[in-house]
Amino acid sequence: MKKYLANFVFSAETAPILNGVLITDDGGTVLDVLENGEGLEDLIVVEGFLCPGFINSHCHLELSHLKGKMLERGGLVDFIRPIIEMRKARPDVVQHAMQEAEEEMKTNGIVAVGDICNTGESFGLKADSELHYHNYIELIGLDPAMAHSVFADGVTLQDRSTEMGLGSSLVPHAPYTASAELLRLLGGHGRSTDATLCIHNQESVHENTLYMDGTGPLREFYAGFGDDLNFFTPTQTNSMEAVLRSLGADVSVLLVHNTYTTNADLSRVSDYNSQVSYCLCPNANLYIENRLPDIELLAETGNLMVLGTDSLASNWTLSILDEMKTIAASYPGIQLSTLISWATYNGAKLLGLDSELGSFEKGKRPGINLIYDVDMDSMALLPHSKIRVLA
Ligand SMILES: [Zn+2]
Repeated sequence: MKKYLANFVFSAETAPILNGVLITDDGGTVLDVLENGEGLEDLIVVEGFLCPGFINSHCHLELSHLKGKMLERGGLVDFIRPIIEMRKARPDVVQHAMQEAEEEMKTNGIVAVGDICNTGESFGLKADSELHYHNYIELIGLDPAMAHSVFADGVTLQDRSTEMGLGSSLVPHAPYTASAELLRLLGGHGRSTDATLCIHNQESVHENTLYMDGTGPLREFYAGFGDDLNFFTPTQTNSMEAVLRSLGADVSVLLVHNTYTTNADLSRVSDYNSQVSYCLCPNANLYIENRLPDIELLAETGNLMVLGTDSLASNWTLSILDEMKTIAASYPGIQLSTLISWATYNGAKLLGLDSELGSFEKGKRPGINLIYDVDMDSMALLPHSKIRVLA
């Protein structure tokens, strides 16, 4: 048995406990959370904040070998152009980079990952991993004539994921790579399998331009590949509204990034779907577009909020703590307890892992993170705050 006494215990579901005690068995299963350590012997005194293991709600393990190779702050279109070419790396290079990326996530207290897959390259590593993975099998096809064949290829890859014991969803990549037809197929599949879908949403302002009137850098991006996009009909709406309408209601949808999402966009969400959640990847937003979403605006919707690192192609680290620090620095009004619930309980809930992960509740084995070098007086993170994994 282990009894940790910390300056604050954050458990996502309860208010932070000053000088709280977390009691676990030797394997890390929670036995109790106490308001103080009175009368207890053999206390392990730790300085800092204790919180459950982090959930990385958006990652691309497959892109780990692109660490440090992509241009920073060049905007989304100039980011995706070279990725298509650079993806063609040697399998051993890809595998080694994914292993290192996973080790980095473990060191940074991440216990579960919602991971985007364009191939099955990561399945072997995940099947043997002690981390929990959910595969978001990502489909790309803006040409509506391709929708059924793209969908069929996705089902084949999903079957492989299932055979290897890995939970999965079939998901669209982004508004500018998914036809309305493909979105309808994926929305229907998500509804019938009770799966959560995710889609990169408004990561660039050009997505809205493309949907509004069919112009802009994304159209030019396709023209560079010889695609004239004659099959694409602008919806004369922002991309987010078009996507939600095509996916349909009664399906859980995680919108990732939301860098250019406005109040007007958010005010229409409930017309289309009541199960929309928002994933923030602030460091990737800074890496690619050098801009953050309006995080307070998103939080005010009351919808579920979660955090992700995105890939090492578009981030310096795979650390949920680093994402929290970036939000705290730009939005000091958002309390640490709120950030921790986004990073733990909400992420676990979205992945359907909340019976085991996400909070310090009896019987769960959620992982134990100690965040130290913190601002104890105002219960906040500092730029140099660090993490140590206790279990
Ligand atoms: Zn992504």
